[in-house]
Amino acid sequence: MRFLHLGYDMPLYRPPSEANSLILQLTIGCSWNKCTFCEMYKGKKFRVRKEEEIIEEINFLASYNTDVRRVFFADGNAMVLSAEKLLNIIKKLRDKFPKIHRISAYALPKDILSKSDVELNQLHEAGLDLLYVGIESGDDELLQKVNKGESYESTLLGSLKAKKAGIKLSLMVVNGLGGKKYSYQHAVNSARLINEIQPEYLSTLVLTFPYGEKKFIEQFPGEFEPLNQVDLVHEMEIFLEHSNLECSIFRSDHASNHLILKGMLGRDKGILLKKVKQAIKNPEFSAIKEDWQLGF
Ligand code: SF4
Repeated sequence: MRFLHLGYDMPLYRPPSEANSLILQLTIGCSWNKCTFCEMYKGKKFRVRKEEEIIEEINFLASYNTDVRRVFFADGNAMVLSAEKLLNIIKKLRDKFPKIHRISAYALPKDILSKSDVELNQLHEAGLDLLYVGIESGDDELLQKVNKGESYESTLLGSLKAKKAGIKLSLMVVNGLGGKKYSYQHAVNSARLINEIQPEYLSTLVLTFPYGEKKFIEQFPGEFEPLNQVDLVHEMEIFLEHSNLECSIFRSDHASNHLILKGMLGRDKGILLKKVKQAIKNPEFSAIKEDWQLGF
């Protein structure tokens, strides 16, 4: 495809696995935008783009190339749009790009829960195949502390509702989110939550502070002592030990991760745990940065 300048409202974020997808910005920013650990959309005022504007963009793109196979809806939670509006946009996309086989978006559990079973089924049938949900943690105390606006229950119900409609899930957990004090409960309860959901994809990334650690700590009610690299790996060990997944593709390979792990859970649980334990024992620590990948 020739390079086309779509006039994106920057910054633009997408999951690593959407690198080859057409990115369509249906909304700008995040409708919640209050999580204290997230600065992705802090510079944007949330708004929904006009449908005519999006349709015009689709027509423009289709006039160049109709070979698009994957589409990702940006920004932070395009699923906040009504099912009707999403269905109109998907229909237009499918008319113009007949080869599309996957449409995906970021979603908040509340966005999923606001739709009926019928609407979610319609969205799935129309082509919405995958939702990326940042669950961050399964620990309610910690979710409150970082102002996530979701809970163990809302995440569980939203996720199961999407699954029931046939929509696949890619869930993300933030390693180190609770610092030292909440590390154990964060790991155990996050594992408990993903065990109940059994997502198709699971990833972890490490808590980072683009605008500085001080700002995050100021907003964290109570004690927050950041995890060092060994603590982070130890938290991963507890999380993996408590995981009981049947068939979830697991990735811990975001740029923020010190220890790169990839595998299929539960099949590779034992191997992954072995690598994690080796990393904890390794006094040099440099080995932790090796790319430990499990083939599948
Ligand atoms: S809901 Fe997601 S995108 Fe929005 S502020 Fe929270 S982590 Fe960031």
